Amino acid sequence: MKEEKKDIKSLPLGELKKELSARGEKAFRAVQMYEWMHQKLARDFEEMTNLPKALREECKKRYNYTSLRAARVQESRIDGTRKFLFELSDGNVVESVWMKYKHGNSVCISSQVGCRMGCRFCASTLGGLERNLTPSEMLDQVYAITLLTGERVSNVVVMGTGEPLDNYDNLLVFLRMLTDENGLHISQRNVTVSTCGLVPQMRRLAEEKLQITLALSLHAATDEKRRELMPVAKRYSIAELMDACKYYFRLTGRRITFEYSLMGGVNDAGEDALRLSRLAKPMGCHVNLIPVNPVKERDFVRADGDKIRAFQNILEKNQINGTIRREMGRDIDGACGQLRRRHMSDLHHPG
Ligand code: SAH
Repeated sequence: MKEEKKDIKSLPLGELKKELSARGEKAFRAVQMYEWMHQKLARDFEEMTNLPKALREECKKRYNYTSLRAARVQESRIDGTRKFLFELSDGNVVESVWMKYKHGNSVCISSQVGCRMGCRFCASTLGGLERNLTPSEMLDQVYAITLLTGERVSNVVVMGTGEPLDNYDNLLVFLRMLTDENGLHISQRNVTVSTCGLVPQMRRLAEEKLQITLALSLHAATDEKRRELMPVAKRYSIAELMDACKYYFRLTGRRITFEYSLMGGVNDAGEDALRLSRLAKPMGCHVNLIPVNPVKERDFVRADGDKIRAFQNILEKNQINGTIRREMGRDIDGACGQLRRRHMSDLHHPG
């Protein structure tokens, strides 16, 4: 079997130093190369003009240098949100979203090709998990968007396709490299990781003591209802989840955000809002209310506007800060996994 070439853009600076010093290169070469890859966002070794040509040639032979090809770009006419469909070197595609806010530009990235969590309302999971993304493929989404828009990215949310904590080791390398001062140096406080609630990994993440925000996709305030919506709820109870959230808060000092997608007639009653308040209160959690994006393969419908506001009012009365997520890019398949699915079905059924 052909030996796989090492993925050089997935190596943190310390590893890159070891790698190059084993070839007799000085440490400063590794720093130069790291900056080319992760700060100047070079697309190949050719661009690294202050490195000796022999070294560039050698690296080209030895290493795999990942880069993404934008297969489709859609721009929202409503708010300028752009959705990118990127093709990976093996032909798989992932989606990433670029959102412009007053406080800066935010990128939402995918962490896996597909997903195996099976949430009933989500389009990303319909075809199951294809594979994990490498650290470089997660970084590349941020880099490609920076290059394509010509604007600096200040916030990164890992809320695209995939369950980030199901790809834990690669996620951690990605987070450290994204926030490394020798790379883009994005502030950890501006990075959010969203999970459907894998308890052991949430606890492990707490112990890494990063300053990132952890968002928990709760979507229901009782185990019974949550199990209907999310298969992962059969593995971990809400009580176990809340303990893991408290642990995360205790070790990092960072408050958890709860995500709650409102589905008409499913989880939008006053009773649900009250129960949710009781869960959020002890930890001072912020709640993000997301009107569900209907997915054509599923039968969930949007909660109506009055219901959503009433829900938010109940949270407020209980001193819970709940924001209704401003819907960005509604006209461009904004919901997770929708663009990728459409692309794949166009490929299989052209025309
Ligand atoms: N696997 C991670 C991150 C990806 S999804 C997680 O579960 O958190 C990002 C958020 O969008 C999650 O809260 C997810 O539950 C939610 N989501 C997925 N499909 C949705 C849809 N059709 N409408 C509204 N929210 C959805």
